[in-house]
Amino acid sequence: MADDTKNRTRAEENDEIRRLLKAELDGIAARLQRGGEARGTGVDGGNFLDVAQGLERQEQENLISSRLMGQARRLQVALERVNDGDYGVCSECGATIPHRRRLAVPDATTCVACQDRLEHSGAGVRSATNRETDG
Ligand SMILES: [Zn+2]
Repeated sequence: MADDTKNRTRAEENDEIRRLLKAELDGIAARLQRGGEARGTGVDGGNFLDVAQGLERQEQENLISSRLMGQARRLQVALERVNDGDYGVCSECGATIPHRRRLAVPDATTCVACQDRLEHSGAGVRSATNRETDG
């Protein structure tokens, strides 16, 4: 009984991860919404510099929101993996992803070694930008 905190069940761990992922997703949704609201203003009227600055800001916001959307998609995938019971297992080599890494990078679907390998070969980046075509 006293060991409850050490010996947590998988369900409890999944609950924690699910909360973590949902909190991240909520944060991203809120940021995207704020960005969308800010975008409608500031570009019309004014002098050329104002317009140019407004456009520049828009471009930056687009960049940020596309990055946020990519992250949201990864979080969604991680959430699905939690529900499927696949979460915490490396999608490349099948090894268990350490709990610490899962807390630090909740949307990680690979272990550190595989992540490293993918980043160096560039395959992970390419397949990650391979939008909506899988399925
Ligand atoms: Zn791996």
